Amino acid sequence: MKEETVTIDGSIGEGGGQILRTSLALSMIMGRSLRMERIRAGRKKSGLQRQHLVALKAAQEISAATVQGAEIGSSEIQFAPGRVTGGTHNFSIGSAGSVALVLQTVLPALMIAGETSNLTLEGGTHNPRAPPVDFLERVFLPVLNRMGPTVTTSIERYGFYPVGGGCLHVNIEPVRKLARIDLIERGQIRESKATAIVACLPESIGHREVRFVKDNLDIYDLHVAVRQVVSPGPGNALFIEFVSDGITEIITSFGKRGVASETVAMDAVKEARRYIASGAPVGPYLADQLLIPMALANGGAFRTCQMTQHTLTNINVIKRFIDVNVEVRPIDDKVWHIEIG
Ligand code: ATP
Repeated sequence: MKEETVTIDGSIGEGGGQILRTSLALSMIMGRSLRMERIRAGRKKSGLQRQHLVALKAAQEISAATVQGAEIGSSEIQFAPGRVTGGTHNFSIGSAGSVALVLQTVLPALMIAGETSNLTLEGGTHNPRAPPVDFLERVFLPVLNRMGPTVTTSIERYGFYPVGGGCLHVNIEPVRKLARIDLIERGQIRESKATAIVACLPESIGHREVRFVKDNLDIYDLHVAVRQVVSPGPGNALFIEFVSDGITEIITSFGKRGVASETVAMDAVKEARRYIASGAPVGPYLADQLLIPMALANGGAFRTCQMTQHTLTNINVIKRFIDVNVEVRPIDDKVWHIEIG
């Protein structure tokens, strides 16, 4: 094992929070100290915000790390991890910060730890620019579980931006070593669904969204549903879900005050059209989230319908910690092939 500290410049690529989460996760797994500078320099409000600070403290808790710079606004940290231990942990963001992004920080280390973990995460369960819990449950975790661990979630309360107050329980049964998977073929789409969830708002918002999807996405057997969910604050999200032979993917769009339901639905429809047309199994968000597990499995390959800056940056950060080859090549103008190891 290499002993020297890994220094990561948080301003590379998009210069966002994912660089911090990936760095913390791999620092714990590889047992290498991390020094991170210019944290989230690419964002308007740079440095550690509440959700990033909770992620850092969560990483500290599970790995008995020595940490410097753990303050709101901090642009530089030092993180020296000890041994990772599972167990019961409660991580409360105390705002609408995304529980999925705190989970993203600790899950890679806990899914290959020596003990089972039971986590309770409080904050936002459905946030713009983060994986909604529906995506975790039906897209990301089923793929991860195929690699060996058994990770299950149960949502106690929904939390939307800006009120938050959601609660998610996560059980992690780890494995010693992840197995390789390949996600090359999507196969036939077996089921297509448009589901709107609504909290503390008129249900008509959800009905307008799913009707727009039905009228504008050319799928004759699209199933639609609208669900009221329990949350301390108002919120609305629309999911378009495709269940294929090889994978399930979910495209999400969030309702926003002052934005028409049809506009919210149009964003999801555009993304869904791109996903369908590409024939690739993996959407743009799952793509950046698969990289750490595949690097830990020492191999894997997938095809995605969009190459994002997040994916490219994550590859760069992973290579700073793990000696692994990553090949990225276009198949045509709609599909990219990513091969690890
Ligand atoms: P920042 O700190 O830069 O303000 P952030 O901490 O919220 O932002 P990003 O660096 O933007 O984080 O990373 C967002 C993560 O959320 C990525 O892993 C991305 O794949 C995931 N994500 C964003 N939107 C979705 C979505 N609609 N569905 C699934 N995952 C998503």
